[in-house]
Amino acid sequence: MAWAVRGKSSSVFGPSVHRGPTNRRAIALTFDDGPSEGTPRVLELLARHRVPATFFQIGANVERLPEVARAVRAAGHEIGNHSHTHPLCCFRSPEFILQEFARAQQAIAGVTGFSPALLRAPFGVRWFGFRQAQHRLNLRAVMWTIIGYDWRRKADIIVGRILPAVVNGAILCLHDGRELRPDPDMGETVAAVGRLIPRLRDRGYEFETVSRLLCPMI
Ligand SMILES: [Zn+2]
Repeated sequence: MAWAVRGKSSSVFGPSVHRGPTNRRAIALTFDDGPSEGTPRVLELLARHRVPATFFQIGANVERLPEVARAVRAAGHEIGNHSHTHPLCCFRSPEFILQEFARAQQAIAGVTGFSPALLRAPFGVRWFGFRQAQHRLNLRAVMWTIIGYDWRRKADIIVGRILPAVVNGAILCLHDGRELRPDPDMGETVAAVGRLIPRLRDRGYEFETVSRLLCPMI
């Protein structure tokens, strides 16, 4: 059961992807839990390296920091839906789960003008009701190939964990926020990503948004 709820390749509670096609040397950086006051530092870094990414935003954070949410979109990044209040969804009703993603969808579209096509479950935890919510809102669920644990690890450890694990089609999960907490410290994440990008480029990887990674023809 634990695997069904949290397993990155489990489809018990609805279809999800955790990796793109393996035939191209392309990968996707994803950032969860923003927007936060730390997001502009991440945007600056990505702009400097001309790297597109995908930001799974929390609806309540979008309403708190609409300018930052808009800046993400204005920089050309993809935005995904990471729920409205970042609840742990197990033992919740299907209606609760639908409302969490419906409210976030509205907040993100209303503030940024971009309607997400992707969803990521808070804590990677899915439950009964996810399948219906995905279907009703027309959202594709995206887990990850590698998670950086960047909310509690030093940059060296994050880089050391991610670098050897990257493969064609990998979806990397990092964070530009910390759930609903205001003004989180993004220092280790920014330092880690700043080291990862050039090293991965040296190995020949291209960075793409998740939608592009999954469907290169768009
Ligand atoms: Zn999250």
